[in-house]
Amino acid sequence: MIRDRALHKREKLLGKLPVTGELLRGSLLERTIRHRKGCPKCARGEGHHVFVLTVTYPGGRTRQFSVRRERVAEVRRSLANYQKLKEAIEAICELNHDLLRPDARAAKPRSRKHD
Ligand SMILES: [Zn+2]
Repeated sequence: MIRDRALHKREKLLGKLPVTGELLRGSLLERTIRHRKGCPKCARGEGHHVFVLTVTYPGGRTRQFSVRRERVAEVRRSLANYQKLKEAIEAICELNHDLLRPDARAAKPRSRKHD
């Protein structure tokens, strides 16, 4: 049955949700900072690589957070968790659309009965 299949799929999606507080929304960008003077590294043209987490809010406002190198892996993991969670939520909502249909139960071609 379509309804049973949708319910089963929903349970499976629920089981795959990353249940964790390690969640971050946004993008991790790598930037190069160059000092104008007094820095031998920048004088050699190397610059400094820094990581910035950029978060956009409704209305287009953004916030930026600098991320220390040793926390980059954790931030990447949290961003991936957020994406996984978001995809699963979207998929569950799509299934729930199917479950909202009043004829979901009668959608089987065999059951032609009308009340
Ligand atoms: Zn420098």
